[in-house]
Amino acid sequence: MKRFKVFCVLMILFFTMTNYSYALQQQQNDSVGKHSFIINEEVAKSENITVENLTIELSDEETKEQTEKGIIINGQGTAQEATVAEEIYKKNTLSSSGNATVRAELADLSMNSLTAEVQPFEVGETANFEFEMANYGGTTAFNTYVYLTIDDDNIGGFNIGSILPGYTYTFPLMIDGITEGTHEIILNATSISLETDYSNNIIGEDFVWQGVPDLVAKSFNTVSGDTSFVEGEAVAFTFSVKNEGTGIAEGIQNYLLINGQEFAILSYPSLNVGSTLTCSFSLTFNSPSDYNLQLYVNKDHSIVESNYNNNTKTKAVTIISEWAYLDYGWSTTTIPIQPYSYNDVWQTPMDASISNWNDAVGLEVTFYKDSSCNNTVTAEYRPEEWYGLYDPNESGNELISFDITLNSRRISEDATNVSNFIQSVFVHELGHSIWLRDNPPTGLDSIMYHFRDRNTMTEPQEYDIDAVNAKY
Ligand SMILES: [Zn+2]
Repeated sequence: MKRFKVFCVLMILFFTMTNYSYALQQQQNDSVGKHSFIINEEVAKSENITVENLTIELSDEETKEQTEKGIIINGQGTAQEATVAEEIYKKNTLSSSGNATVRAELADLSMNSLTAEVQPFEVGETANFEFEMANYGGTTAFNTYVYLTIDDDNIGGFNIGSILPGYTYTFPLMIDGITEGTHEIILNATSISLETDYSNNIIGEDFVWQGVPDLVAKSFNTVSGDTSFVEGEAVAFTFSVKNEGTGIAEGIQNYLLINGQEFAILSYPSLNVGSTLTCSFSLTFNSPSDYNLQLYVNKDHSIVESNYNNNTKTKAVTIISEWAYLDYGWSTTTIPIQPYSYNDVWQTPMDASISNWNDAVGLEVTFYKDSSCNNTVTAEYRPEEWYGLYDPNESGNELISFDITLNSRRISEDATNVSNFIQSVFVHELGHSIWLRDNPPTGLDSIMYHFRDRNTMTEPQEYDIDAVNAKY
């Protein structure tokens, strides 16, 4: 039975289920409410992972600047410039005419109604209204203007022209750029003509604009940026989720999957428009393998979003067995080697061996020649059976110096390709200096296997590169 443990920082609730520890973390934050991190113990057990060091933070630095100063009418510029007579007043939009009752001698403009066919409006889409206006008076209302106010902002006016006595008109009104919330739309009709009643010239109605959130999985990575790690080592991950929609997202559930199985759900109470949620946590992988991790925000679509296609990010990591390593290795990523000088048959493949490591794609260490160091390489005739010998001088986990010897007798006797054979042996011995042990427990190719074909394998293999990177 594999071990399974859950550690949580600032753990408030802790309870036990079956034989495994199971933790639910609740943390109170004044500004954002409660969040929780729930582990699926069965998956964590089957994948042999340990979860710890959860932190969550909210960043608001990218909150959208979206104020009502940006209101535009019918796409015709900003509020202050919004006198859009041609757009609003079209004779062919008259819904009725000549049927209003004349009630007085003077003109009498009346703002009868302001309506919207669909409510609430969606933030970001044009809001379509209709207003009905009549002249109940006995004379024409000349130079009629309708002024628009949204909440306390004067937006502008529409030139309606002249309204004949006894006429009722219906006008379309389109407004863009209103933010989420309830807003009062006020229309106020004026004319240069005298009126009998000014109290019916104004109408104000409340309308609701509703935004739709769009949760976006912005990033999911290891904190170090590395992709390979040693078995049993805590690997810190971080992910961020941003609300790029127009409405607040409430009750967010971020699913974390490992090899396609949900292993944790991070719940978060709410995320405002433009805000980013950043979460980090550590996983300890107790079995060497390749793991595919996935962040899937709002996986069950419990939040209605404008776009569900940007909710996931993946991160693959390779976990290397602890048995792939010696107990000591060079402590920094640059490893010096004393210069050496041999005939071309040896010098060229020996130099190539150093390049084979240095040129390995993604490798995080570099060998270089330095006459002041104590790390030596010698090629000489030796009576022993070995091809190469690695002689370390270590202190604890730290390699202080090393001497590598290449046995020219054995290599010359057994090689069908002397250049390749020299490289295979030297690359292998250099591998020891950067922690690699002989015969690692993997089914993958490795320069560290004794039974490799030394006439053909001259370079560190992908597994070797991952294994070295996991240590540095
Ligand atoms: Zn070896």
